[in-house]
Formats: sequence, structure tokens, C-alpha cells
Amino acid sequence: MKKTVSFSKNSTNVFFHILTKCNLNCRHCYINREQHGENTLPLSTIEAWLGAFAEKSNIANVIFLGGEPTIHPDLSFAIKKAKNMGYNSITVDTNGYLFNDILSKVSPDDVDYFSFSLDGATRKTNNMIRGEGSYDKCIEGIKKAVSMGFGTSLIYTVSSANIHELEMMVPLLDDLNIERFFVQVIGIRGKPAQINQEKLQVSRSEWLSIIPDVAEKAAKRGITVSYPKVFLSSKETFECAGLVAENYFIFPNGRVYRCPICEDFPLHSMIFKDNRLVDTGKLNENDLFNLNIPEGCVMNKLVQPENLSYKSDGTPEYKVACCLLKEEIRFN
Ligand code: SF4
Ligand code: SF4
Repeated sequence: MKKTVSFSKNSTNVFFHILTKCNLNCRHCYINREQHGENTLPLSTIEAWLGAFAEKSNIANVIFLGGEPTIHPDLSFAIKKAKNMGYNSITVDTNGYLFNDILSKVSPDDVDYFSFSLDGATRKTNNMIRGEGSYDKCIEGIKKAVSMGFGTSLIYTVSSANIHELEMMVPLLDDLNIERFFVQVIGIRGKPAQINQEKLQVSRSEWLSIIPDVAEKAAKRGITVSYPKVFLSSKETFECAGLVAENYFIFPNGRVYRCPICEDFPLHSMIFKDNRLVDTGKLNENDLFNLNIPEGCVMNKLVQPENLSYKSDGTPEYKVACCLLKEEIRFN
């Protein structure tokens, strides 16, 4: 079954960067320390900030991120705090190094998914993007997590450097017993924004001809696959998640964004001050969400206009969807 996952209006998703420190230096890293600082949040602050979002809705999900979140010595306590606060699901995104012996400090009852990042089906391609040794460490981490009964997912960030290996991921995912596969499009944030974007981004035709096909092949093996919709036909309705969904991207300097594409700029709409969440003044991302343009996503037009294409009468050939709009495909 294939479906576009519309934005959930009844749940809150908290993407919580508890530190920006990382042991790797991936080519496409989106972490921008100039904008988001170099703090490692103390456990008491993590608890206070988790509490601010737990109250917002009956269904709140948290994804712990970094940097590499397992470098945080108190990650296991943060997970247990989130659990006690009633978070509906808890995910840890990791590069696979699984520092601080994290798997032995939490149980599959505490963590719904460890979500591993791999950017190549082969050692050569992955390590070229993510660094020497990272492929073997990630595979070892996945095997260990699966053997201990943890739910696992895998994130593959597609760029021109690795799209040729996407199909090779299908048997690998199957061998590793991965439950969910997230294909991501390379974002023009962090490092990719500073290097030649066109070289990293894949074209619309490549995206449409390769991604849905590979997703279907993986789904036929019982894996749930999700990938960004990216392009909308003129008949499809555009919605900005900043207006209709409850997604919060928290950084360790206290900034809270509603839109991931805004993260490279001081456009956050909220900030934690003395552990209280307060609105920021104008101009912020909220002022952009309401702009109604025929191209769809305003931020895409501002930061990556080369993704757009126009007819001879000046109207856009297609709209660019919100980067948070996903297609999900599963056959079980
Ligand atoms: S593992 Fe993540 S945070 Fe670390 S360098 Fe790579 S992309 Fe950046
Ligand atoms: S990516 Fe575009 S559509 Fe989505 S929240 Fe940001 S501005 Fe809105």
C-alpha cells in the first residue's frame, strides 16, 4: 500500500538535538554550529525542555539527535525521563558508533527505534561520504541492536554521490533485518549549502525515476519505506507543515524551529529562556509560512530556486512540496 502521509494534526513531533558534537565529519552534515552552538545540554535542561512539549499534546513523539546523541553521557537517563513523561514513541538517530554502551543501558521497552545512518550500500561509497571506518561501525551497530531485540530503521540521504547504490540497499536492508527505511533528499543546509549544491542534488527526473521504484522493491520485502514527496503536480494540494502540523526542531542553544529549511538562519519562531518557551519577535519563520506562492514552499524558492522550473508563460511547471511531506509504502 502506498500513501502520502498527510501532516498529523493530533500529535507533536519533537526533534531534539541534545548536543552538536559528533565523532564524524560527513560531507553533507547539516549541523551548523555557528547557528546552533556547541553546547551539550545538561540532563536537567533536557528534562525541562521535554516537559514543555510533553504537555502540548496527548500524543508526543521524540527523536533524540545530535551531532551524535550517543556521545551524550546521560542519553539513557534522558530516554527514561521521556518515557516517564508519557512520550508515545522514542527514537534515537545514530551514526552507529553507539557510544557509552547505550544499548546495554536501555531496553527495547524504552526505545522504539534506533535509527542508523548509512549513505552507501558499499564500504567505499559510504566511507567516502561519512568517513573511514563508518560503514563497518554502522553495520556492527545495527547487528548488535537487532540481536538485542531493538527496533531498527535506516536513513539513506540521497545525493549524486550515492543514488547509484540505492537499489543495492534493498538486499542489504533485508539481510540486516531492518524494519523501516527512510530515504532522505540531501538538504541545502549546513555544509551542502557552502559547497556546490548542483553537484550534490539529484535532478527531478532522476528522483522520480529511481526513488519510488526502489521504495517499492524494499517494501515488497516487508520493510516500511518512507521518502519525501518533493514534487507536487498542479492538481495536488500544497500545505506548509509550519501552519498545519506540530513539529519542533530544538537546538542546544535554545532555538526552536518549525521548519528544517530555516535552520541555517536566525529565523526560529521560539526560544527557550530560563527553560521557558517564548516566542521570538518578527521577522521569523512564521511570517514566511503564510506567503502563498504558486511554486509551493516559500523556503525552497528562497534557498534552492534551481529546483524550480517554469513554463513559457511564467507559471511553474510543478510545485515543490513541504520537505516534511512523505510518501509511505508498505505491503504488510
Ligand atoms: S553523523 Fe550526523 S551529525 Fe555527525 S557529522 Fe555525520 S551528519 Fe553530521
Ligand atoms: S519546508 Fe516549506 S512548506 Fe515545509 S515548513 Fe518549511 S517553509 Fe513550510
